[in-house]
Amino acid sequence: MNTLVKHVRAVGVEQSGIRCAAVIGAGSMGSGIAAQFANAGVPVILLDIAGDALNRNGPAESGIARQLKVGGFMHQDAAKLVRAGNTEDDLGLLAEADWIIEAVIERLDIKRELYRRIATVRKPDAVVASNTSTIPLAQLVEGLDSDFAAHFMINHFFNPPRVMQLVEIVASPENAPETVARIRNACETVLGKTVVDCRDTPGFIANRIGCYWLAAGALDARKLGLTIEEADAVNTAFGIPRTGVFGLLDLVGLDLIPNIWGSLMNTLPATDAIHRQDLPGDSTVKKILAEGRFGRKSGAGYYRVNPDKSREASDLETGEFRPEAPFPAANLPGGGKKLAALLDADDKYGRYAWSVFKETLVYSATHAPEIAGDIEAIDKAMELGYAWRQGPFRLADSYGATRVAERLRSEGEAVPALIDAAAAKGGFYVEGKPLKSSGERATQSAFSVSMLAAVKASSKPIHGNEAASIWDLGDGIACFEMHTKMNSFAPAAFDVLEWAIEEGPQHFRGLVIGNDDPRAFSAGADLGFFAKKVEEQDWQAVEDYLVRGQNLFLRLKYSPFPVVAAAHGLALGGGCEFILHSNAVVAHAEFQGGLPEIKVGLVPGWGGCTQLLLRAQASDHEPASAAKAAFDTIFPGNPSRSALEARASGILQADSQIVMNRSHLIGAAKVRALQLVQNGFSAPEPALITVAGKFGWQALMAVVEAEKAAGRLSETDVRLASALLSVLTGGEDGDAAKPLTEEDVMALERKALLGLIRTPETKARIDHMLKTGKPLKN
Ligand code: NAD
Repeated sequence: MNTLVKHVRAVGVEQSGIRCAAVIGAGSMGSGIAAQFANAGVPVILLDIAGDALNRNGPAESGIARQLKVGGFMHQDAAKLVRAGNTEDDLGLLAEADWIIEAVIERLDIKRELYRRIATVRKPDAVVASNTSTIPLAQLVEGLDSDFAAHFMINHFFNPPRVMQLVEIVASPENAPETVARIRNACETVLGKTVVDCRDTPGFIANRIGCYWLAAGALDARKLGLTIEEADAVNTAFGIPRTGVFGLLDLVGLDLIPNIWGSLMNTLPATDAIHRQDLPGDSTVKKILAEGRFGRKSGAGYYRVNPDKSREASDLETGEFRPEAPFPAANLPGGGKKLAALLDADDKYGRYAWSVFKETLVYSATHAPEIAGDIEAIDKAMELGYAWRQGPFRLADSYGATRVAERLRSEGEAVPALIDAAAAKGGFYVEGKPLKSSGERATQSAFSVSMLAAVKASSKPIHGNEAASIWDLGDGIACFEMHTKMNSFAPAAFDVLEWAIEEGPQHFRGLVIGNDDPRAFSAGADLGFFAKKVEEQDWQAVEDYLVRGQNLFLRLKYSPFPVVAAAHGLALGGGCEFILHSNAVVAHAEFQGGLPEIKVGLVPGWGGCTQLLLRAQASDHEPASAAKAAFDTIFPGNPSRSALEARASGILQADSQIVMNRSHLIGAAKVRALQLVQNGFSAPEPALITVAGKFGWQALMAVVEAEKAAGRLSETDVRLASALLSVLTGGEDGDAAKPLTEEDVMALERKALLGLIRTPETKARIDHMLKTGKPLKN
């Protein structure tokens, strides 16, 4: 459908008070932050230094171009919301901005000079924030007037800004609490981030602990005689990034070691344990840097991939490359799956795991009072800024806080007060409540959770079974939540849906469909089921499964209560069709929805073709072009890479709302359902579809045949295209004069699918997908 994406502001943007934003510095961070504003539908001014006379805005424009290339924008049209300029000619533009983020190079003199100039143009209430990684807030505002200081803070984003969830905020005593609250809310609602409050200390939280951990991980590996592959396997087993320590250093860039670690070591007192983790002083690091091996950006670091794809790894003593010797996690104590088995093992892997874990935990616990309000701030910073599955304190709880304290003591180590407090009080967390840095138990977590998580923590489902549950979200709105693997549609999930349709009106007035799974709204029908039925040649079972899904989804669409999909993560095939039948959608910005059935040799068979065709007709009344639009969305089979892309392809609609923050999604869907109820929702009128008929089918097939003649489609592709078009045009013998009901088009879906599933080419595609996770081209 490829309609131009109109810039709808994400939910909550209007109320945030951020009507226009500005970013200064269009490097990797600044241009990425500007792109994220545009993704939320907020106009943004992006200034960099002035270019040459021919193109004064060249530097800022190249920042926008870079984000288009690296995927910082959720849709290319979002880039149109970014206005490029330069700090010489366009400083006056900043008067329009409610929030100005400075992301120029890390030089105090340059930043301060810029603030002096911004102070002359910013509007009275505008907040100015620096994205500095290392410069203390106190130094940044020194010499600036008190009103500027009252509106100035640090907002520390992580790279890349679209992907990384963390923003560290450092506020000053001069900031009014309302000012900090406004920016915190904007970080969360407009930019979709999680805010961690930090004190004005070097490296704030994530880099202070993260750099310490990386140095301990790298230096201990050498000390304890592990190879870098072995060390990376141990760290990966901890749920620390897949890259491990050395892979992460290569990714971040080894050239940053002297600056970042150097800066921490220069500013932190000699008593700070960071001085025992002298990564820049390590002879192997020095040798690697002297050879210009800066990591992935220079093609070699600790690891190297050669042009012939052979991989090499560095020897930790000599720094010389040798062939990589992958070390499978399964070879670790406990198979790399059991934390305690690994930490307790009396071999080099166990000793290394314990040493890195112990040092990182002790460092975190020792410095928590100085850097954070509670231990959860440190865990969140490591989880969201360094991609640890669990932060150091959560890991310590899974090993046992008492066990940690006893083991440290038995090894003659000083035990930080916070570890003793956790041991005495039953853990770092009890019922989700963290220890404050003072050692007292907090009354609650400072981080908001999804509405569904909160409901689940305090109530029982209204109805449910092993595959799905119905929860009461309050105010007469319920939530249908699946909890199968990847939330695929097991028959038991259909049982619960059936109950919701039949009994629901006695229990609720509106229904949200969604869940809190971090990966998938729903991976759709169970492909394994199809494979089994193909093996058994049980075509009747396939047809029954199709009929059941089609009927249920259609009944859901026409039920007397509004159904609002809280769309997020992967929604593939049947998962996407589920969403297509809802009465309204609220989608997370990173929604990946699509109908990939063609890739397994099938066509969408739970009403996906029908609903997309209906939508295409609503926006483009001409039947053949509507069929072509639906075909163009279904045939390539690629899921969207964002909600904006899904809107452009017709999977979401113009009135679908977009939410930037994943944990706000279920709450926003509930609000939408309540609005529909309050506006007197009634089920839509049954739809009629005018199809293009046999001449439409012939015309569209001619295009497909031409693609085949050009070598872009195989014989199997053509057969699939023909089957899909026969649904979308009413069939090879379809009568264009006779409008069809949704049930009629769904019957065509079944006919097409049941025809395809018997072919050996489709069987081969299904088997290959199940075996490899990748589509077969045949
Ligand atoms: P970068 O070198 O990629 O970009 C800096 C940009 O600032 C360049 O485009 C440069 O032309 C521009 N610039 C320099 N002086 C300027 C001036 N006077 N006026 C306008 N523009 C000017 O740097 P980056 O990695 O994007 O880092 C920017 C800031 O963000 C730094 O403070 C850095 O510490 C911080 N930071 C970086 C990362 C990271 O991973 N790269 C992460 C968090 C924070």
